[in-house]
Amino acid sequence: MKTHSLQDLRDRFAPSDRMPVVFLGHGSPMNVIEDNPYSRAWFDLGASLPRPKAILVVSAHWMTQGTTLVNVSEMPRTIHDFYGFPQALFEQQYPAPGEPDLARDVVTMLKSHRAQEDDHWGLDHGAWAVLKYLYPDADLPVFQVSIDMGRGLAHQLEIGRTLSELRDRGILILGSGNVVHNLRAMRRGGEPLDFALEFDTLFADRLADRDFAKLSDAQGLGALLTAAHPTVDHYLPALTVAGASDARDNLTFMTDAIDLGSVSMRSFIFHAN
Ligand code: ZN
Repeated sequence: MKTHSLQDLRDRFAPSDRMPVVFLGHGSPMNVIEDNPYSRAWFDLGASLPRPKAILVVSAHWMTQGTTLVNVSEMPRTIHDFYGFPQALFEQQYPAPGEPDLARDVVTMLKSHRAQEDDHWGLDHGAWAVLKYLYPDADLPVFQVSIDMGRGLAHQLEIGRTLSELRDRGILILGSGNVVHNLRAMRRGGEPLDFALEFDTLFADRLADRDFAKLSDAQGLGALLTAAHPTVDHYLPALTVAGASDARDNLTFMTDAIDLGSVSMRSFIFHAN
C-alpha cells in the first residue's frame, strides 16, 4: 500500500474521459475552518482533479430507511447539522447550484433500489465541509444521494456499481464519511486505538486487493466492524465509492492518519490513469 504525495497525484491525473471516483474522510466539522493537513489536501486535490460537469455526493450525514433519496433542488441549501461548534461554522454557506435533471436520471437509474426524489435536503456538512476546499468557488452543480441504513453493506456497494456509468458522463462521484468512526472512543490528542489501526489497515489492504466482498461482509468483519463503526453511516459512503470503481482503475490513498484516537482520516481515489 502506498500513500502518494499531492504532486504525484497531480501528475497521475492526466486528462481522461472517465472521471475518478473519490472518498474523503471528513472527520471533525472543525476542519471546515482550520488550516490543517486535511483541509490543505482537499484543496490540492480539487486543483488536481479533472474538472467535472457535476458532482454527486454520498454523505454519511444523510441517512434514510428503506429508500435512497436523491435531492432534486435547483439551489440546495447549506445544512448546519452539528451542535456546540463555533459560530464561524454556522455562518458557512456553500451556494452551489443543484442539478435537478441529472438527479432525476439518477432516481431512474436507482429505481430497483427504491430511489425517490427529494426536495427537502440540500448539502449537509459531510458534503460542503469538503466541497468548500475542493471547489471553493461553488460554481459546479452538486446534488446528494442518501444512504439507506436499512439495507446493509453490500447494498451500498451495489448502489456504487449502478452509479459508476456516470463517470463516463463527466460526473464526479464523491463519498464523504470515515473509514473508522467511533465517537464514543474518541479523545482529544489521543493515540490511535488498536481497533482503529486494525480496521483501517484491513480496509486499506482489502481495498487494494479489490476484495469488496470482504469489506461488505458485516458478519465476517464481526466485532472489529462494530468497534470501528458502532453505526455504519460513516462507512457506507466508502463502499459506494468502492462499488463505483472498476478493475482498470488505479488506487491512490491520501491523508491516512487516525485522528482523535478513533477517527480514520484515510481518503482514497480510484482513477483511470
Ligand atoms: Zn461526519
